[in-house]
Amino acid sequence: MLTYKCFKCEKKIVAKNLEKRFVCPNCGGKIFYKPRTKVKKVRAV
Ligand SMILES: [Zn+2]
Repeated sequence: MLTYKCFKCEKKIVAKNLEKRFVCPNCGGKIFYKPRTKVKKVRAV
């Protein structure tokens, strides 16, 4: 299942819930990102 993450409250939102209104049901934020894009943290030694 495709899920987005709210940029504001960082809650996961199922893509289905964003079909009609692209607004976060939790905080009303309008910026989302896909948690799929995992960023590897690289520590500089
Ligand atoms: Zn939110």
